[in-house]
This record gives sequence, C-alpha cells and structure tokens, in this order.
Amino acid sequence: MATKIDYYAALEVSRDANGDEIKRAYRKLAMKYHPDRNPGDAEAENKFKEISEAYEVLKDDQKRAAYDRFGHAAFEGGGPGAGGFDFGGGGLGDIFEQMFGDMMGGRRGGRRSGADIQVQVSITFAEAFAGVKKEITIPTRVTCKSCEGTGSADKDQPPETCPSCHGAGKVRAQQGFFAIERPCPTCHGTGRLIRNPCKECHGAGTVEKNRTIEVSIPAGVEDGTRIRITGEGEAGGKGVPAGDLYVHVSVEAHAIFQRDGANIYCRVPVRMGQAALGTEIEVPVVDGSRAKVKIPAGTQTGEHFRLRGKGFSVLRSSARGDMYIQVVVETPRHLSKRQRELLEEFETDAAGHAKGSPESTGFFSKVKDFFEGKL
Ligand SMILES: [Zn+2]
Ligand SMILES: [Zn+2]
Repeated sequence: MATKIDYYAALEVSRDANGDEIKRAYRKLAMKYHPDRNPGDAEAENKFKEISEAYEVLKDDQKRAAYDRFGHAAFEGGGPGAGGFDFGGGGLGDIFEQMFGDMMGGRRGGRRSGADIQVQVSITFAEAFAGVKKEITIPTRVTCKSCEGTGSADKDQPPETCPSCHGAGKVRAQQGFFAIERPCPTCHGTGRLIRNPCKECHGAGTVEKNRTIEVSIPAGVEDGTRIRITGEGEAGGKGVPAGDLYVHVSVEAHAIFQRDGANIYCRVPVRMGQAALGTEIEVPVVDGSRAKVKIPAGTQTGEHFRLRGKGFSVLRSSARGDMYIQVVVETPRHLSKRQRELLEEFETDAAGHAKGSPESTGFFSKVKDFFEGKL
C-alpha cells in the first residue's frame, strides 16, 4: 500500500474529536467529493476514498483505538479488516443509502451491490387516475438473520481471508508450458473462508425468501412508467448494500375513456336531432362522478367540449389535465314509418336551404368549380 494520509487529517478533525464531530466532518466532505458530483475527476475520487476509509475507522470505537495505538499498521495484513477496505461498497453502502438516498439518483459510481429486481404491475385506468397502493411479492435473497449476513455460524469468528489464495479467489497451476488460473478449491472462488458456516444460509450470508412490500403508485402514473425503490432489490450479503427494486407499471385500457398525457378523452354519441336542436347531456367522469355538458344547436361530429381540471394529475406537480367530450353525431337506423315520413319531409325542406348545411354547400360548390376546370 502507498503512503497514507493520517485519518484525522483526512477528515480535517482534531485527534480528540468526538463521534458527532467526526460524522459531521465526514458528511460535509463526502458531499463535496462524492463521485456523482465530480464525474471523471480522479483527484476528487481519491479524496473521496480517503475520507471514506478514514471515516470507516474513526466512526468505530474499536478500530479508532487500534488506529490510535498502531496507526495504519493496525489494518494491514491479518489485522481487523483484513484484505483491505473495499471501496466498491462494503460497509459504506448503508451510510450512503441513508445519507444520499434518492438525492443523488442513479447508481453510485461503480458501487457493488445486490442485484436489482424488476417487477411488472398492472393497474386499472381508475387506479392510475386516483393513485393506488399495491402489495408486491418478490422472491428474493435477503440477508440471513441467523448470521446477520456474515455467513458464519460463530459470531466471534468472522470470515477470514482464504489462506490458499490470499483472498484472490483464484489459484494458478502450472500445466506443461501453461499457467492455468482456476477458482480456488479451498474457498470455492469466494476468497473467504468460513470455519463454521451458518446452517441457515450455508455461508452465503443471504437466504431465499418471499418478501412482500407495499408500493405506492402515484396518481397520474402513465402506462410504461418505471418506479425505482432504492434498497429493495436483492440483499447484497456480507455488508454489501441491497440492489434496487424497479416496478414497471402497465395501465389497462378503459372501455370509455382514452388518455393522452394528462388529458382524458371520451367519445359521446349524440342523436342527429339532439345535435341539430341543441341539448344538455350527462357524461361520466373518471372519478366516478357525473358532469353536465351543453351541446349547442348545430353541433357537428368531432367537436370537443372541455371539462376543465377533470383529467389526470400531473406527476410531481399540482397541475391537472382536462377532460374532453368528443361528440359523435349518430345517424339513425331502422327508422319507424313515422320517422321515415318526418325525415322525408325534413329532407325535402332542407334541400332548399343552403345556409342550413354550410359544409355540404361549400363542398358542392368546390365540386362544381372542379368540373368546370377552375380548381
Ligand atoms: Zn446465515
Ligand atoms: Zn481461496
């Protein structure tokens, strides 16, 4: 190992600093030098490793006492924390989960952790509108309670560095001209040796178990949304932080409502006579209530009427979408004798009124121009 900076100097605290002072100093510096805040900055990364290492030791009374007495030598070869510190994650993980949580977002640079878990959840249109809590059962590996994740049945005998491979997990064997690397037979490639493996997990530090967690799906969630729940993935085992849980939400289609972003569309059929004379119709609202919509005389198919604020909530905002009623004017079928007579009479009369059907009039005058070569 290269020359190391004094742990107290690394954290910029005095040698008699108390636990709180050390913690505060560490948080301040860790925020400043965290790799997520200094992408690609090797110097910051080194500094971050230094302060993390220093904190790992100074926060622990026993390790701190050993350091005060023996300096860095306390932690080299066979000492406490044999095999060196693991900056990929290790014991740092849990502090970081607490400290940064979602604030930093995303995977912390190169940190080793348990596997992420992906689950699919299907919710109804109404649940997406109102928001819903869903219980999700995940088959997963969780930290073994029996050995607290150490893998060792004996609490006083933590896993040791494997003496055959010195923790590498691999051994080299000469075979003719070639040196072949193969997994260490003593430790089965783990690099660690557990003298008395835990009966529950057989030394793995994690056990398989169904876990049920309640996931809050926010109102306004869209089909295909992915919700990340930090630390609810696979347990890492042996002090390594858990992975994350990703919940992929699919929203079922609705029989009468469609959605576009935060807006809701509903196609409402209106009888020909109602559309011509004007009327008031009652329409369903996705929250289960009803609303009245005035359809003015002369409404055409495709015309929209807006119900302000009756759409979906917009995620992470207090804004709401609108609901649009799309009118479809329905042509009557299977006319009764009386209806046929009335409509025939109506039609005879309407043919003479160009102003009554402006769209037809406009169209046929263009058709006339077309045949006369003007268009
Ligand atoms: Zn165990
Ligand atoms: Zn080994």
